[in-house]
Amino acid sequence: MMFSIMAILFSLATFFSTLFGGLFAERFKNKLYSIMAFAAGVLLGVVSFDIFPEIIEQIKINDFNPTEIMIALVLGFMLFHFLEKAVLIHHAHECDYVEHKHPEVGVLSALALAGHSFMDGVGIGLGFQVNAAIGILVAIAVIAHDFTDGMNTFTLMFVNKNSEKKSLAFLLLDSITPLLGATSTLFFKVSPHFLVLYLGFFAGFLLYIGASDILPEAHSQHSSFKLIGLTALGLLFIFVVTRFV
Ligand SMILES: [Zn+2]
Repeated sequence: MMFSIMAILFSLATFFSTLFGGLFAERFKNKLYSIMAFAAGVLLGVVSFDIFPEIIEQIKINDFNPTEIMIALVLGFMLFHFLEKAVLIHHAHECDYVEHKHPEVGVLSALALAGHSFMDGVGIGLGFQVNAAIGILVAIAVIAHDFTDGMNTFTLMFVNKNSEKKSLAFLLLDSITPLLGATSTLFFKVSPHFLVLYLGFFAGFLLYIGASDILPEAHSQHSSFKLIGLTALGLLFIFVVTRFV
């Protein structure tokens, strides 16, 4: 019972981390191109230095089949690609003038991030089910990267032509879901096999939005070495952070 209270408290910290990340993006929305260039680096960094080492560790411990996890990755990439382009194809039929930004794409991205944030909360809860030390370790990793989850939620909503108010509403949803995820672990358990498949799936989703949405959007007005440098900085940031957790 003690541990479940700790899990809820830590997911409360996640709530603020996500919210502040989103509010940061809102505050600097005139610098969104720079923020997006940085965020693209962060996403690649999270996949390379956070998620993949965890997957490899789980494969070693549990002797999982790596091919299954790579299929989950490809599915994460392709499912999101399909959903996003299906929205665009649908709109292209509706009007002659093809506009490349659609609020639905922003909503889709925000919902995927909210689903992920729910799993962040589940991760914290499961960590505490094992023991407090692992719970705290997972919580630190989640709290540290959820700042960028919030940033991405607001940014992806806002650049896809959703109103500021609606973008903030989805930011709030993304902030609350870790709490719901952590609370849900009081009632069920998830197998390590399911978790590692989810990690692969989520890595595919992150690679897709990083390379196909956020990075092209960051360079949509003009490309510069500064933007490329910010992407490298985002990568470096996650590399350094993941050395400590
Ligand atoms: Zn997260």
